[in-house]
Amino acid sequence: MKKNNIDYEKVLKEIEKEVLPFMCDGEVASYIAPLAGVNPNQFAMSLQFLDGREYHKGASQKKFSIQSISKVFSFAHIMKLYKGDLQNRLGLEPSGNPFNSLVLLEYENGVPRNPFINAGAIVVADMLISYYKNNTFDKVLEHIRLVGDTLNVDFDNGLYQCEKISGYRNYSMVNMMKSFGNIKNSIDDVMSLYFKLCSIEMNTKELCRTMLFLANHGVNPITKDVFLTSSQAKRVNALMLTCGHYDASGDFAYRVGIPAKSGVGGGIVAIIPGLMSLCVYSPRLNKKGNSLVGTKALELFTTKTGLSIF
Ligand code: GLU
Repeated sequence: MKKNNIDYEKVLKEIEKEVLPFMCDGEVASYIAPLAGVNPNQFAMSLQFLDGREYHKGASQKKFSIQSISKVFSFAHIMKLYKGDLQNRLGLEPSGNPFNSLVLLEYENGVPRNPFINAGAIVVADMLISYYKNNTFDKVLEHIRLVGDTLNVDFDNGLYQCEKISGYRNYSMVNMMKSFGNIKNSIDDVMSLYFKLCSIEMNTKELCRTMLFLANHGVNPITKDVFLTSSQAKRVNALMLTCGHYDASGDFAYRVGIPAKSGVGGGIVAIIPGLMSLCVYSPRLNKKGNSLVGTKALELFTTKTGLSIF
């Protein structure tokens, strides 16, 4: 199918219908109390094209916790700021382990496998604090608002507080990394920033807009703002493809075939370079912690349209 001849309204309508039988499969994330309480039976999908066209289905105005999708923002942000070699602090390989796994960290001297697992995003948070020194979260949030051309983005304080008092595994990781010298700032400051970023709330429409620069070589095609160089945008996309779904990244690439990042809040953001950004929300997760219906919807999308990168 040629991309100009695709009836996207029709494709979204078909997807909404075809995912219905799966809407009761999977479980919402239960280890973060406020996430356990969300209505599990929600679905939203948005498409945002470089030329400004947009299409939406379902609850696309409904805000949800972006969780690990924030790892893309913080990594893109540190890429923009940091001139040194990131690889002294962070790997660029898939971990083959769950998002919150501790096992590789000790073997690999406190250097996380990649920036899209929790340990990696914690190191990125530490690097952001070293750069800004003060009010780091506000500066990153300001950047997200600018990239998405929306002021209406904030974090959920209740969720943030809850993760901060119950994120035991994340504290184990940061302590382990600190013992290897890979965390430079206070654990409290680093974890506050990490958890605040996880608790940002956005809807599928806003997430699409905010990620659109990644489909356009680092430049927001609507506002014309330049966020990353073309080669930095290539790198973020490459990491999303290889590491965006924890230890199911290979499976996601095999089924869906586009760069994407998921979060345990049930969102998945995806990029079709040169064409569009997409976002799906459905809070029930599969066994690997990725939105079950979201993954299915994206698989249906690339199958129906032929728009994978391969
Ligand atoms: N806030 C979550 C955590 O730190 C993020 C996990 C995720 O979305 O993968 O465990």
